[in-house]
Amino acid sequence: MKHHLFGADTVEHYATTMQRGVDALVRRVRDVEGPFSGRTVDEVAPAVEAVDLDAPLGDVDAVLAELGEVYLGDAVWFHEPTYAAHLNCPVAVPALLAEVFVSAINSSLDTWDQSAGGTLIERRLIDWTTERIGFGPAGDTAADGVFTSGGTHSNLQALLLARGEAFLSGHADAAAPFAETMARFRVLASVDSHFSVQKSATVLGLDADAVVAVRADAHHRMDPHRLDLELTRCRAAGKVPMAVVATAGTTDFGAIDPLEDIADVCERHGVWLHVDAAYGGGLLASTRRRHLIAGIERADSVTVDFHKTFFQPVSSSAVLVRDGATLRHVTYHADYLNPRTATLPNQVDKSLQTTRRFDALKLWLTLRMMGADAVGEGFDTVIDLAREGHAILRDDTDLEIRVAPALSTLVFRYRPDGLPEDVADHVNPRIRAALFRGGRAVVAGTTVDGRSWLKLTLLNPAATIDDVRVVLEQVRAAGRDLLDETHPYQEVGR
Ligand SMILES: *Cc1c(COP(=O)(O)O)cnc(C)c1O
Repeated sequence: MKHHLFGADTVEHYATTMQRGVDALVRRVRDVEGPFSGRTVDEVAPAVEAVDLDAPLGDVDAVLAELGEVYLGDAVWFHEPTYAAHLNCPVAVPALLAEVFVSAINSSLDTWDQSAGGTLIERRLIDWTTERIGFGPAGDTAADGVFTSGGTHSNLQALLLARGEAFLSGHADAAAPFAETMARFRVLASVDSHFSVQKSATVLGLDADAVVAVRADAHHRMDPHRLDLELTRCRAAGKVPMAVVATAGTTDFGAIDPLEDIADVCERHGVWLHVDAAYGGGLLASTRRRHLIAGIERADSVTVDFHKTFFQPVSSSAVLVRDGATLRHVTYHADYLNPRTATLPNQVDKSLQTTRRFDALKLWLTLRMMGADAVGEGFDTVIDLAREGHAILRDDTDLEIRVAPALSTLVFRYRPDGLPEDVADHVNPRIRAALFRGGRAVVAGTTVDGRSWLKLTLLNPAATIDDVRVVLEQVRAAGRDLLDETHPYQEVGR
C-alpha cells in the first residue's frame, strides 16, 4: 500500500507514473480522428464488464493499456472541432496544471485547518467575480459567495438563500406553521429557464406547482411585463413570490433575459432576483460584449459556471450573493469542525458541501497564466463563430434556422423545402443519432413548440467556420439518406 501513496518517499514513483499517464494521453490525443468512436452501449459494455476488479494489474503500462480499452478509445472529445453538442468546452492548459496540485495535495476547502492558503485563494476569486459582476469593490463590500460543483448546485443554493430570506420578510406570516408558509412560496422563471430551477424547488420542499413559468418573447427572453402581471397575480392569490430567476444565456438559445427591466420589476415587488448566468457568465471576462449582461449587478444572487464559458475542467462553478450575510442560511456548526467559537475563516459556513475540492485553483492559475482577457476572447470568438454559422444557415435551402444566435448556440433543422413538419420531426432526431453513430461530428437536439430541432453549441475557440460547414454537411447528408429510406413522406405519421 505504502508504495501507492503520495508522499516524500514515493515522489519518484509518483513522477514516473504521472509521466506515463501524460505520455499515454498525448499519444491518444494526437491519434484522435473525431469526437467519438461511434460505438454503441452494447459495443462498449463488454470490455468494461470483463474487468475483474479483484485482480489488480499492478503495472502502470498494463493499467494504461486497459484504460485505453475501457474508456479512452470511446471517450467523447470536447476539444475536437466538430464536437458541437452540449455546453462542454475544451479546457485551458493552466487549469490542467492546477489539477496536478489540487488532487495530489488534496486540500479540502471546508475549513482553514484543511486548506489554509487555499481558502484565501478561493476568497480572492470570489471577490474578483463579485467585482466583475459589479456588486462593489472587494474589501468594502458585503458581497460574498462560494465555489460549488456546478450550476445546478449554485441555483439550488441561491434559491435556498432566497427561501430563507422570504421566511424573514414581512410577506410571510411568522406565526403560520412552517409547512403552510412553504406551500405559499412561488418561484418565477421564464419557460426557457434551466430545469434545475424546478428540481431545486422540489428539493427545497416547495409546492409541486411552485415554479411559475413566465412567458418569453420570440427570442426566448423573459417578458418583464408578463413577470409583473404574474407577480401581481401571485400576491392576489395569497401566494408569496420567493424569488425571480432570470437567465443570462438560456441553455438552448443563449437568450439573455432583459436584466435591467426584470430588476426594476423585482425591486417594485420586493422580490429576490437570482440571475442564472451558468452559460452567459463568461461575458464577465469579455472585452467586447460585457454590456450584454448589464443589470446583472442588481441581482441578489448569481450563478456562474466556470466549467462552461471560462474553459475550466469540470467541476468549477460559483454562487455569488450581493449580501454575504444571506449565506447564514447554510451556516451550521459542528464541534469537531467549525465550532461557534471558531475565529478562523471556514468556508464550510457558506457551503452546502463539507469536504470540498480546491477547484478554485484551476481558475487562479488560468488567470495568472493567461489572464481574463484571453478567457473572454475565447468566448467572444465562439460567439463570432455562431454569427458566421447563422449567416450560412440563413441562406441554406435544406436547413432552417430558428432564430439568430444570442450567444454561441444555433438551433436549426433539416427541412428541405416542402418537407412536412411531421416528417422533419421524424428525421431530425435520427440525423442526430446517425451523426453520433458515425462519430465524425456530434450535435445536440431539442424540442421547440413541440417540434424537433437540432442544436450546435459552439464552445471551441479553435474551431473554424469550415468545421461548422463540415458539421452542417454531415447533417445534410444524413438527412438525405434518411429521406431516401423513409419515402414516401405520407407513411411517416406520428
Ligand atoms: C448548464 C446550465 C445549468 C446547470 O449547470 P451544471 O453545471 O450542468 O449543473 C444551469 N443553468 C443554465 C442556464 C445552464 O446552461
